[in-house]
Amino acid sequence: MPVFAATVVADPRGVGWRVLDGALAHTDCPACGAALGSGPVGCGECDVAHDWRWLAAEPDRQGVPPGNEHAIRVATAVARVAHRFPAHMVPRYAATLPLLIAGGLPGGDDARAANRWLDSGGTLDALDAAASTAEIAALVRVPISG
Ligand SMILES: [Zn+2]
Repeated sequence: MPVFAATVVADPRGVGWRVLDGALAHTDCPACGAALGSGPVGCGECDVAHDWRWLAAEPDRQGVPPGNEHAIRVATAVARVAHRFPAHMVPRYAATLPLLIAGGLPGGDDARAANRWLDSGGTLDALDAAASTAEIAALVRVPISG
């Protein structure tokens, strides 16, 4: 385990969540061998690391509305360890993550557009097939006809 990652993982308080996310990805779980915090629910080491994920700091980026960084953090966690969240949440967060990265908010117009898109038949496969976040944003923001 890289020393820096170990230091961050041991005490994530005050560390930026993106740094902690990277440290977790570079740390093997001593119990299950997955990236720490991403192993199966019920792996004690991963359960604790996943819970501690939320201790890290999330300062908002300049030029985005307050709460945007929190929304990106949650959506990123859902994307990284989808099996640790309710299945119905996964496509909603997957559809909104590119919009959040572009500066949107989860309760804003983009989130409503993503919900309409999913409710109209939008799928994770369609998101996976998109070549870029810009393509996903265009896909989600344009209502499905028919
Ligand atoms: Zn584990």
